[in-house]
Amino acid sequence: MQLYIEKLCMQENIVFLSKKVPLLNINNRMKQLSLLAITAFFFISCNKRYVKNDDTVIIIGAGISGLAAAKELKENGVEHVIVLEASDKSGGRMKTDRSLGFAFDEGASWIHRPIGNPITDLAIDAGATTFLTDDDNVVVYDIDGSVYSDEDYDTQDEAFEEAVGKVHRAGMNSQSFETVYHSLYADKADDRLWKFMVSSYLEFDLGGDISKLSSNEFYDDKEHKGVDVIVTNGYDNITNYLAKGLDIRYNERVSKVDYTDETKILVTSTSGTFEASAVVVTVPLGVLKSDNFQFAPELTDEKKDALDDLAMGTVNKYVFVWDTAFWDVDLQYIGYTPETKGTFNHFLNIKKYSNNNALMAFTFGEYSRTAEDLTNVEITDLVMNNLKSIYGSNVPNPTNMLRTRWNSNVNSFGCYSFVQQGGESSAYKILAKSINDRVYFAGEHTSFDYRSSVHGAYASGITAANEMLKRYK
Ligand SMILES: Cc1cc2nc3c(=O)[nH]c(=O)nc-3n(C[C@H](O)[C@H](O)[C@H](O)COP(=O)(O)OP(=O)(O)OC[C@H]3O[C@@H](n4cnc5c(N)ncnc54)[C@H](O)[C@@H]3O)c2cc1C
Repeated sequence: MQLYIEKLCMQENIVFLSKKVPLLNINNRMKQLSLLAITAFFFISCNKRYVKNDDTVIIIGAGISGLAAAKELKENGVEHVIVLEASDKSGGRMKTDRSLGFAFDEGASWIHRPIGNPITDLAIDAGATTFLTDDDNVVVYDIDGSVYSDEDYDTQDEAFEEAVGKVHRAGMNSQSFETVYHSLYADKADDRLWKFMVSSYLEFDLGGDISKLSSNEFYDDKEHKGVDVIVTNGYDNITNYLAKGLDIRYNERVSKVDYTDETKILVTSTSGTFEASAVVVTVPLGVLKSDNFQFAPELTDEKKDALDDLAMGTVNKYVFVWDTAFWDVDLQYIGYTPETKGTFNHFLNIKKYSNNNALMAFTFGEYSRTAEDLTNVEITDLVMNNLKSIYGSNVPNPTNMLRTRWNSNVNSFGCYSFVQQGGESSAYKILAKSINDRVYFAGEHTSFDYRSSVHGAYASGITAANEMLKRYK
């Protein structure tokens, strides 16, 4: 019993108490009563869950979900938490490149709906700076450089929103968004402005191409409140902040989680095999779906079906820098309506919130996959063609550019998850379920309510850690 109390005390960093209680100087009856009282005192006053000190917990993946899980476990007394990360840095899809002298976020950029969003406070604590990006501060240009009038754009935008709702209501599990949309709005299939809205709004938001996206299970998640803000000095400030003090082993690519033995879990990684009492698997959906990551015993059919229900979307980002800005620097967004959907049709004006003469461009949907095979020169030419249509043939080529290739990135195989044609969104809940109270799961693909977001991933890590902590209550 005394050992147990000592463990409890150590757990709460109050080791001295167990050493100072004079247990041996009182009679047996008193001893028993004292022990009971002291135990009760600690259970009440500590008011925290108890995890065995010598348990080793392994977290697989140092993205925000893995870091959140590790931090939560450490803060609740689990001493041996090891994070195994395949790459050479933490953050996962919150990845910042500063090689151009400013922060280019390759993955997440925005804190969506910041009111009530747990990332808002975290960003403040981490020293991440933000800027409110006004979605309505946009001008959309046609291929001849003419502007869609505010009235035309607003009317079409409203009609498009209604159309998305209608597809949602008419949609069937077996049909893609595109099939239902084209049957209801055949006249819009080749409308350039509608193709712009399909890709820049819907496919950007959901990650997937409309030809793959479910027609009825795509908007059944939740949102916090408020207007989106963009992180201006790098989203990795947040993950670097969470990573502080954690035992993260980099360049450790996990290939197998073997939970056959009831007493320990064997995790096979680059440098060898690690033993753990419990693991939290936070590798992205794309990695779970690949052959690179195995479980023994294999995942249940329920989990395998859930993996099939979802797919990884593709959004890629490109940043271009010029000596001087030739575009309307007061705009937040510049839209363009090319014939081919998803092709460098949406520009974020970085100059709006910084001193940098830079624009961020995007590719969406299936085109985004294709664009990964293009060279930097080809990409730049395509972007410049679009910009020249808007601003004239004299606009100069950029002095520098950076790009992403999320689809071929072996650490994610895509940008974020979506429910694909034939799939069910309940898959998110199934993927979140732990196995035998020992193998836990977290990551954006395990968050039904806030899927495909930073806040969803973060909350899923905290949830997985607390689920594990309850087991030891
Ligand atoms: C282009 C893009 C734009 C986005 N924009 C936004 C946005 O504006 N706002 C927003 O809220 N969300 C956005 N997101 C989504 C958001 O970035 C993710 O939902 C979130 O970062 C996912 O966190 P995670 O912990 O689930 O996964 P990850 O961040 O992917 O972390 C998983 C970790 O596991 C590691 N790993 C992979 N395989 C292995 C292995 N075998 N062994 C060990 N480690 C492994 C990876 O390297 C990675 O570090 C965007 C994502 C992308 C790609």
